[in-house]
Amino acid sequence: MVYTTVTRTISLFLVAAYLTVASTPSAFAQSRVTVVRDAEIEALISEYAQPILKAAGLSRSGIDIVLVNNRSFNAFVDGRRIFIHTGALTDAETPNEVIGVLAHEAGHIAGGHQERLRQQLQRAQTMAIVSALIGIGAGVAGAASDSRGLATAGMGMAAGGAEMARRSLLGYQRSEEATADRTAIDYLNRTGQSANGMLKTFERLAGGMALAGVNVDPYQISHPMPRERIANLEELARKSRYFDRKDPPQLQLRHDMMRAKIAAYMEGGQAVQRLFRGNPRGIPARYGDAIATYLNGNPRTALQKVDALIAEMPRNAYLQELRGDILIKASRAEEAANAYARALSLAPGTPGLLQVGYGQALLATGKPDLVKKAASELQTGLSREPEFANGYRYLAQAYGQLGDIAAAELATAEGHFHLGRYQDAKIFATRAQKRMKRGTPGWLRAQDIIQYRKPG
Ligand SMILES: [Zn+2]
Repeated sequence: MVYTTVTRTISLFLVAAYLTVASTPSAFAQSRVTVVRDAEIEALISEYAQPILKAAGLSRSGIDIVLVNNRSFNAFVDGRRIFIHTGALTDAETPNEVIGVLAHEAGHIAGGHQERLRQQLQRAQTMAIVSALIGIGAGVAGAASDSRGLATAGMGMAAGGAEMARRSLLGYQRSEEATADRTAIDYLNRTGQSANGMLKTFERLAGGMALAGVNVDPYQISHPMPRERIANLEELARKSRYFDRKDPPQLQLRHDMMRAKIAAYMEGGQAVQRLFRGNPRGIPARYGDAIATYLNGNPRTALQKVDALIAEMPRNAYLQELRGDILIKASRAEEAANAYARALSLAPGTPGLLQVGYGQALLATGKPDLVKKAASELQTGLSREPEFANGYRYLAQAYGQLGDIAAAELATAEGHFHLGRYQDAKIFATRAQKRMKRGTPGWLRAQDIIQYRKPG
């Protein structure tokens, strides 16, 4: 599991949430989110999503699912991407709960809700700005006349305007939410799945909101859940003949292993124990424990734990990947490379992330023939995952060790480029180009980076 930080404009649904809370136009600023990259989780979530996206007529639209490293419950769409918080995945006790949320978000995409929300937000933003200006004006006037009463009145006016903006937005959102619920149930019916998970999730969120009022998950704010909405949802969900259908046990096991992994990475071993209190010797609990042991810097014990799991699940690609991670930490690079090679052969498809891990281990051996192989594995892995910025560092290192300085500079340029550091990217691309023959693929790629203009 790897964390990468990306800067992006806050999602529209998230903006809606922020607007509700903060009621300020500054909510439209750029935010930094930490994205989690992990072959196991990505493979599972894309298995959850594929049938739903197909039912929604979106399977050819290249919808990306992005995992955000955040403990709170949230899922939202932004452009052609579905963002889902890792906290939402650990909260979901079954695959069906995640699938239900994905179906609901797919309903927003298919319904074109974002475009209309964008327009609504612009109206709301204008209203909020106007009210803020009125508020500030009255406040200044109040301060000038040294009257506390007037200044307070100014603030009240600002809050009133924001409240108006908020209400208009919420009213609009309610109808979109009901539409997305109905569409989601349709997708679930067509894929032979229960809407029980979606219902359970929304009931849980609605209950939490009513009880607490503090520590509200962003999802609840961006997806208003009045009693009436839940009641309508329940009626529709129960009508389906799939309502009582359970997730297959194999899928449930993979789901729980994913939850264990997220808990271990985000919160450590105790969180894993809490999560699997009911089954402390089950595979998910022991998987989370092995990961936590590895993260605590105890590779020897971690290796024993993962090997015990591998004996039970010899064909699980991600146990082999964990074994590779542990062996790298133990400075046993060649054995690590073997483990990653096995992970690659067992994983469905050819996950670029695992291939980068493999290349990284080969590089760490320092043996010239293996470093050569490392460069080619890293290159192929990154061609499958061009946005995986962390990988370019290893690629640059591999080329550097092989004495191919031009390729090393270009790889460094790519790394900067995919992290959004365009100035640095251009510097390295220019340096690479000076050592390259004009018109070659490397030279052309360097040229693309040098001439790149940030959109917008
Ligand atoms: Zn929604």
